[in-house]
Amino acid sequence: MSAEISPVHVPPRRSAASDTLSGRGRRTAPWVLMYHSVGECADDPYLVTVSPDRLERQLRWLNGRGLTGVGVAELLRARADGRGKRLVGLTFDDGYADFVEHAVPLLRRYEHSATVFVLPGRLGGSNDWDELGPRKPLLTEDGIRAAAAAGMEVGSHGLVHLDLTATADDVLAAEVRGSRDRLQEITGKAPEGFCYPYGKLDARVVNAVRAAGYAYGCAVGAGPLTGTHALPRAYVGERDTAGHLHLKRLQHLLRRRPLPFEGGYAALPYARTAGPRDSADAPDVPDAPEVPDARVAEGSPVPSEPRVEQDGR
Ligand SMILES: [Zn+2]
Repeated sequence: MSAEISPVHVPPRRSAASDTLSGRGRRTAPWVLMYHSVGECADDPYLVTVSPDRLERQLRWLNGRGLTGVGVAELLRARADGRGKRLVGLTFDDGYADFVEHAVPLLRRYEHSATVFVLPGRLGGSNDWDELGPRKPLLTEDGIRAAAAAGMEVGSHGLVHLDLTATADDVLAAEVRGSRDRLQEITGKAPEGFCYPYGKLDARVVNAVRAAGYAYGCAVGAGPLTGTHALPRAYVGERDTAGHLHLKRLQHLLRRRPLPFEGGYAALPYARTAGPRDSADAPDVPDAPEVPDARVAEGSPVPSEPRVEQDGR
């Protein structure tokens, strides 16, 4: 009676390919930085604005470390190809009009690119979901196309910036699928990435994003759902001087953990599996000591993180 025979326990055979697909071995969370608005803003209660001057210093810091900022889709593709070692994901949430005005020129000048997560249900509108602080204009259709034409990746932040964990199923579908369809109409290309408003997500929301065809999702903090569809990101703000960025990078290298997996980009058709791999996930040797930013006193600690670190906006 076969039912009474204890099954012989044969460990599954592992191969390099299956390791790649399953995410075993070398897949750990990439370093992805989270920005929102770029401009001069004295009234910034949620600490979501960096000045163009500060962003420029931060981009120059990346250049000085031999790091290149790229959009998240490009970052994940490069990692799947073993080319991710010197790449950092740069993301700008909410799709503020100032992304095209201030961020894009700086990104291009310093030879970086980024992902901008936009709100196609608020085209040309403003950040009315924020209770406090100034109203800021959001990208129009033309602005979104301008960002794409400048080489930036356009991703979805939903339609109108809702906490998706608190939505009914039909609203969730409209936010996730509807925004994807709308962005395809605007740019001619379906977005690969989704970014959860406020960093709020649960299994139902993540499943909806995956089912809608997005190849990845951006969260804020790490958690039980961390994976290709819930990538953790590091908050970067106006206070982040070169010294702070250096410490944040070290924190990332020390704390990053394996991404549990559904295959990620290695399973997608455009990801090549052959070819030499770099040591993107091996312990990284820290760069030479930094010259602290002039505005930071020696030994200045990393500032306590603002609320957006946990929740996003
Ligand atoms: Zn947001």
